[in-house]
Amino acid sequence: MQVWDGISDARLTFSASEIGLERPQEGMARLTENLNLQRGLLRHLEKLPEVQLIDKTKVQSIIRDTEERGGWPLVHLDNGRVLRARLLVGADGFNSPVRSYAQISSFGWSYDTQGIVATMVHPPRGAFQGPNTTCYQRFLPTGPIAFLPLSPTVSSLVWSTRPHIASALTASDPDVFASMINAAFRLPELSLRYLYNRIIEAQANGTPLTHAEIQQEILWREQSHSIDHNSAYASAVIQPNADVGVPAADSESLPPLVTSLQPGTVATFPLRFNHTDSYIGEGQGSRTVLVGDAAHTVHPLAGQGLNLGIADVECLARCIDDALQKGGDVGSYTALLPYAQERYLENHTLMSAIDKLHKLYTSTLEPVVWARSVGVEVLNEFDSIKAALMMTAGARDHKLNNAAAGWNMAAKGVEGLAAGVNAAKLLSGGIGGMIGMGL
Ligand SMILES: Cc1cc2nc3c(=O)[nH]c(=O)nc-3n(C[C@H](O)[C@H](O)[C@H](O)COP(=O)(O)OP(=O)(O)OC[C@H]3O[C@@H](n4cnc5c(N)ncnc54)[C@H](O)[C@@H]3O)c2cc1C
Repeated sequence: MQVWDGISDARLTFSASEIGLERPQEGMARLTENLNLQRGLLRHLEKLPEVQLIDKTKVQSIIRDTEERGGWPLVHLDNGRVLRARLLVGADGFNSPVRSYAQISSFGWSYDTQGIVATMVHPPRGAFQGPNTTCYQRFLPTGPIAFLPLSPTVSSLVWSTRPHIASALTASDPDVFASMINAAFRLPELSLRYLYNRIIEAQANGTPLTHAEIQQEILWREQSHSIDHNSAYASAVIQPNADVGVPAADSESLPPLVTSLQPGTVATFPLRFNHTDSYIGEGQGSRTVLVGDAAHTVHPLAGQGLNLGIADVECLARCIDDALQKGGDVGSYTALLPYAQERYLENHTLMSAIDKLHKLYTSTLEPVVWARSVGVEVLNEFDSIKAALMMTAGARDHKLNNAAAGWNMAAKGVEGLAAGVNAAKLLSGGIGGMIGMGL
């Protein structure tokens, strides 16, 4: 995994070999498409006779059963069926109808940012390069752009950016968008801003830029920054057979050049932070519990949203099992309380850390950029912190109970180091003084 600052280029590199995995060849994490995960889970459910799947059906409304004691939720489906639930699990996403029924309030904010996702096609890495198993993420002031490898020639894009830029990029010709993805990993921020404006202006004038025009614009920007056309930082002229022969010296620092996007894979989502005040419904909303995005929504910069939901489900399943073993009522508050106790703080710590990293990286203030960059470079030297971070970013074979710890440590580490470095700079003047102070 390689993560770097879009302004200063300060870089953090993580490698599976650094955390002492039992089977390092298997890597520190797996990237899997949500669709495949869902397909696998559905196939498994079909094999369980005690599970009844009701597909292609919407929950129309949920009301409280007032006739029976205990106030069980009655779930009205759009096929006319009504289900009476001892326990209703709200795994129904950000706009959760279960959360509305249970009247569980939440707090949060919009990031004024859209997440663009797409599936990218690119040539395989050359014979003298490593395989396509490195994630790349560049923190631009408008939001991070991430390249997530899926196969030797296909990778996934998650690009968070301002809504007007996201609209312009996704309305562009797919080849123009692919060129902009390459540029966003390579060009300095100033040039990217120029290119966004060119695309937006051209669209407003009714003459959207063609692929040849954007490549020409990128070429000019590369020339103005003295980027050698043989460098991995050059994307305007794609060299024929670039994957053959000895690669550019800096080729491992950047993802492969994207040549096209798979049709129909581009989508955008508004990004926000949201956390409910509680995971368990009480009073009129009793016998309900929330998991996943119904309970919490987080910025995708750390790719942790679904992972948090899966951890919720694992914990809730354990609590339900415990209650059943003891002959308890699975819908009761006492049976569900251990779930909320275990997950709420854990989720909140990680969500706050991710939010903190987002805020730290959208700043363009010179002292903040300087300080966070030195912070990152110092952090890059601490193998133990990096190992903890990698484990919580998805590494397998680990026994870390508190999954939030690594991210929290990273956010606090970068922020704290940044503050410390800045103070040292003020006190003792420059790098020499910092070294003198033992930083
Ligand atoms: C751009 C972007 C990139 C992301 N990248 C990552 C990543 O790399 N890794 C990661 O771990 N997470 C990532 N996430 C987060 C992840 O996508 C979400 O956290 C996850 O999908 C939430 O799962 P969920 O099942 O809780 O909710 P959802 O995926 O929203 O599913 C809710 C389901 O409930 C159904 N539903 C809702 N209302 C009703 C109703 N009335 N009747 C019937 N069904 C209903 C919906 O149809 C839906 O199927 C990303 C998110 C975004 C926006």
